[in-house]
Amino acid sequence: MRPGKTSINSNWKKLFTEKYLQMTGGTSDEKLQTLLHQVEEIHELKLEKNATILAHYYMPPELQIETIDGGVADHTGDSLSLSVAGTKAQAANIVFCGVKFMAETAHILSDNKKVFLPNALAGCSLAESITGEDVKRMRLKHPGAPVIAYINTNAETKAECDIICTSRNAIKIANSFSSPELIFVPDKYMGQNLVHKFGKETNKKFILWDGSCIVHEQFLGNIKNMTMAEPEAEVLLHWEVPEQTVTSVLNTTKGIVGSTSDILRYVEESSAKKFILGSECDLGATLKGKFPNKQFISPCIYCSYMKEITISNTLETLQQIGTPMETEKLIIMDEELRRRAFIPLKRMIDLS
Ligand code: SF4
Repeated sequence: MRPGKTSINSNWKKLFTEKYLQMTGGTSDEKLQTLLHQVEEIHELKLEKNATILAHYYMPPELQIETIDGGVADHTGDSLSLSVAGTKAQAANIVFCGVKFMAETAHILSDNKKVFLPNALAGCSLAESITGEDVKRMRLKHPGAPVIAYINTNAETKAECDIICTSRNAIKIANSFSSPELIFVPDKYMGQNLVHKFGKETNKKFILWDGSCIVHEQFLGNIKNMTMAEPEAEVLLHWEVPEQTVTSVLNTTKGIVGSTSDILRYVEESSAKKFILGSECDLGATLKGKFPNKQFISPCIYCSYMKEITISNTLETLQQIGTPMETEKLIIMDEELRRRAFIPLKRMIDLS
């Protein structure tokens, strides 16, 4: 076994099948056999191509299952934990099962490795809502106000910002500045939620950009209706859900607004048996896999960008590594841009 490679349990088919059924609630035998065949090919190719697979929590269950459970992912997590895992990986090649800004972030932090995104169509409405030029214009309108960018931004936007934050560390980052005014981009709902929850604590004015996530902005009356139909359930809401929904739901129902990691921790510590999820539908599969004795219900809204990544194009990416076709999926960035985008990311990591 090469260094950095996770050995595959000889019992992997049984482990994968159990975990997959736990996460999905069931599937046809035909689909399961196809998946097992693809998983086996990926196990072999990862060794042959010296590759690590990083998978976001919004990926389909077959990509989220980790090698310890017979699956293909060396690490499953949120965007920052995946990029940090990329820096620690010993493999020369990283296949990033997430969206473009995440694969870019992994490349910015790990320039000694090749990072591959299995489908270039995996973008993000939030990242695409703002450009580096927009940030420059905001700076001109609010001179002296530091710019904090959520990690869900493209590299050319990151390069124009002072520091990056995630939904996990946003307030800690905001409090690290003495300035009374801060520019926060690009998610207006996350900004409003942060102001609502921590405004008094930080005592700062947040200047927001008008970006939003096409998935989380859809959690409106649907969540409120579910809480009325399931009064014993607790509620799990992501920071990117509109503030009006968060306020109205959490005024009447026990639960949390937070990052994906906060949501996972909350479920682990709660004695409740039923939860209503206000985040991407496949996070529900993650939760079912981690907490099989709890029940999760959701309006089930999928991110169409995330679903551009499939087990088939992940397999194809591995097949292309080391061939002239690999450039199709390789993240390539101008070195000057990479260096400039690295600075605000490194500041965040040093502060976290
Ligand atoms: S869920 Fe929202 S923020 Fe995440 S990739 Fe999809 S569009 Fe972007």
